[in-house]
Amino acid sequence: MLGPVILAASRSDRMRRFISAAPGTKQVVDRFIAGETVDQVVPVIEDATGKGLEVTLDVVGEDITTPEQAAAARDAYLELIGRLEGLGLGARAEMSVKLSMFGQSLDGGHELALANVRPVVEAAAAIGTTVTLDAEDHTTLDSMFAIHEELRKDFPQTGCVIQAYLFRTEEDARRLAAAGSRVRIVKGAYKEPASVAYQDKAEIDKAYVRVLRTLMEGEGYPMIGSHDPRLIAIAQELGRKAGRKLDEYEFQMLYGIRSDEHVRLAAEGHRMRVYTAYGTDWYGYFMRRLAEKPANLLFFGRSVLTKG
Ligand SMILES: Cc1cc2nc3c(=O)[nH]c(=O)nc-3n(C[C@H](O)[C@H](O)[C@H](O)COP(=O)(O)OP(=O)(O)OC[C@H]3O[C@@H](n4cnc5c(N)ncnc54)[C@H](O)[C@@H]3O)c2cc1C
Repeated sequence: MLGPVILAASRSDRMRRFISAAPGTKQVVDRFIAGETVDQVVPVIEDATGKGLEVTLDVVGEDITTPEQAAAARDAYLELIGRLEGLGLGARAEMSVKLSMFGQSLDGGHELALANVRPVVEAAAAIGTTVTLDAEDHTTLDSMFAIHEELRKDFPQTGCVIQAYLFRTEEDARRLAAAGSRVRIVKGAYKEPASVAYQDKAEIDKAYVRVLRTLMEGEGYPMIGSHDPRLIAIAQELGRKAGRKLDEYEFQMLYGIRSDEHVRLAAEGHRMRVYTAYGTDWYGYFMRRLAEKPANLLFFGRSVLTKG
């Protein structure tokens, strides 16, 4: 019940100001956000790759309101890619981007987001890595898939994300499960109405398994974004049944969540990629993490009260 309330609060400017300024917030934010600057995130990347993990990097900051901010988002990714070049990690460190941060919701947003994301995809390809387009709320997805298709003409390895809670996703998965595609499947983290999305957790899990089967039986490269032990076991089973080798799909989990499991799956021979978010504009990302697990809210509340 609390999840939708937290997601609604994530859209409130008043709540943003309150939470951002509250004493004790930083301690909880630090669990999910790997740092504020490129300098701070580089050692985190080195630590993960040193343990046999891979990473996908997200510069947080989806709530932009001007084209200048969208250009700054592009530049932040270009700066990051410049630093990664020196580390020589290639495909072990890829990028995750939210098109809203590249201007998608502004006037002329579709073209603006495409124009801003293209140089990032080009720069990533030049150092041997890839970009995955995150899935945001359902109103943005037609534009996201069109941009994905456009980018794939020149950079076929560009990935995208589909969300099991949306009714549309089974059809999207059938279209995307083609040779050369890279698709991350997640449950979905936004507040969506019953007209477009399953609301019941069990229904979402069942839809996840149906979509996962389509991806595993298809010809693309499935990326399983989940911390759910049941779904991870099902993914391993479906991968086996589809005759996939362990490097023909990968698991992905978020930085700060079930970290022991990251290492355990990698030690079993799986590809495990840690979605590593960093930057100063962490509010939207942080609120989604609180909404996913209400126990996080209790921890957050306690931290604010003790420091306050
Ligand atoms: C790599 C990755 C990329 C993602 N990209 C997107 C995206 O582009 N678009 C999108 O809409 N969503 C995205 N998500 C979020 C996703 O939609 C879910 O909201 C999130 O993964 C929680 O679902 P779950 O599958 O882990 O299962 P759940 O049933 O929610 O969680 C299973 C278990 O994992 C642990 N857990 C899960 N979340 C948390 C948390 N926040 N704090 C502490 N423990 C937790 C708990 O132990 C929980 O019992 C992404 C998730 C991952 C892992």
